Amino acid sequence: MNHMQAMLDEIYNEVLPLLGEGRVADYIPALAKVDPNQVGIAVCDLHGNTYTAGDANTAFSIQSISKLLTLVLGMEIYGDALWKCVDKEPSGQAFNSLIQLEMEHGIPRNPFINAGALKVCDMLYSRLATPKQRMKEMMCKLSGNAHVTCNHTVADSERMHGARSAAMAYLMKAFKNFDNDVDDVLDAYYFACALEMNCVDLAKAFLFLANQGKTLDAKHTILTTTQTKQVNALMATCGMYNQAGDFAYRVGLPGKSGVGGGIVAIIPNHLSICVWSPELNDTGNSLIGIEILERFTARIGKSIY
Ligand code: GLN
Repeated sequence: MNHMQAMLDEIYNEVLPLLGEGRVADYIPALAKVDPNQVGIAVCDLHGNTYTAGDANTAFSIQSISKLLTLVLGMEIYGDALWKCVDKEPSGQAFNSLIQLEMEHGIPRNPFINAGALKVCDMLYSRLATPKQRMKEMMCKLSGNAHVTCNHTVADSERMHGARSAAMAYLMKAFKNFDNDVDDVLDAYYFACALEMNCVDLAKAFLFLANQGKTLDAKHTILTTTQTKQVNALMATCGMYNQAGDFAYRVGLPGKSGVGGGIVAIIPNHLSICVWSPELNDTGNSLIGIEILERFTARIGKSIY
């Protein structure tokens, strides 16, 4: 059997005993209904190979992995002007923290915490006639799956419990760093978070980040080489919120997580990997997902450091 496939199967079997050690996100009630006993892994390399293990074809709520999509769209549309409204510094705080937003006069610390992603969505809303449509189309195009859909039950559930996100948006508005109607932008943000994709879709979708910004067939340049470096750097420093240091230490790759339990990680010029298991650790990142990635980079002997 292929070496990579054998390795994924091995790691999958090793992490199964950890099921039950984390907790499924329940602050969005619809997410709490997910079966916790699921583990998926998908790897896509630059030769066009895809390897999978476990529940790699089961769709899940991408949640904050969508912040990678909104950032890429924001960089495509605004270029460097994006950074006038959002900073690029790690926050060291929880993904939904408001503390620094007030201290830093309504400029979110980075595009991967909730405040930063909301600001990016606000900017997308200013320039796109149909932002939700564009986000979905981009995910379909990048993943090659024409059937990526939004789970409206999850989006509605988040809206009903979205006081914190609304508070962030209004705080930014008070600092004149939010241009559009708050409810309209929240609607687009919840839509993006509630898109459902599986590990294979997500590993395929973000393979361009391992390929200097180009799709594998080289037909599309999604980002320039420099922008690709920038996105990977932001993932490495900010993608895992207040676990960014631990993730760098243990895994050593740029990664972006979501409270649905997914994590996308990149080995530049080599491969993309998406892992998924719904139970989270205290920082809102997939407990088993990180364990898989740690074992993966240790075994293939590659990291960005
Ligand atoms: N939709 C979630 C929220 O805003 C996304 C958080 C996450 O995945 N870390 O809280």
